[in-house]
Amino acid sequence: MRLQSFLTTSFACCCFFIIGYCTRWLEDSPNPPEIIPQAQKTDDICVHFSPNGGCTNEIMRNLGLAKKQVRVFAYSFTSEPIAQTLILLAMGGIDVQVIIDSGSAKRSEADNLASNGVKVYLDSKHAIMHSKVIIIDDDTVISGSFNFSKNAEERNHENLIIIKSPKLVKLYLNEWEKHKQHSQLKAAW
Ligand SMILES: [Zn+2]
Repeated sequence: MRLQSFLTTSFACCCFFIIGYCTRWLEDSPNPPEIIPQAQKTDDICVHFSPNGGCTNEIMRNLGLAKKQVRVFAYSFTSEPIAQTLILLAMGGIDVQVIIDSGSAKRSEADNLASNGVKVYLDSKHAIMHSKVIIIDDDTVISGSFNFSKNAEERNHENLIIIKSPKLVKLYLNEWEKHKQHSQLKAAW
């Protein structure tokens, strides 16, 4: 019985010694082995900065991926290239609808859009409707300070973030529908 107890105690001591030694070795090691995870998709979010940071091109590129619908919140919308891209989508059968701040709509692409197959709604409920958002299908949200304008592209400092997230799309679409309810459909010329 004593021998068994002695052997058990000795075994436990050996284990503690070995574990302690290994732990110290790992702590002292200048470059402990790094566990590298499997490569993960990291391109769900990207950001662009203006002036001349490719924001307009990136908006047009993402719009070109639309398969069924596009929804837009716009404040100052004077960008002809973006307006033309939306018109081409509408002509190709994509459901394109834009809510624009009613005050800024007078000096914008609103008439051009409304006359060429895009449903344009004027929002006058707020001091200004200052959101700048494009929602593409059920997977992409584009937002940021970037107005859809020449000044935003060429002169201002602005940011534009592009997020691939079906969950976020649902939140933005709910918000878009809420504002559509109190906006006026702009008649085509
Ligand atoms: Zn509104």
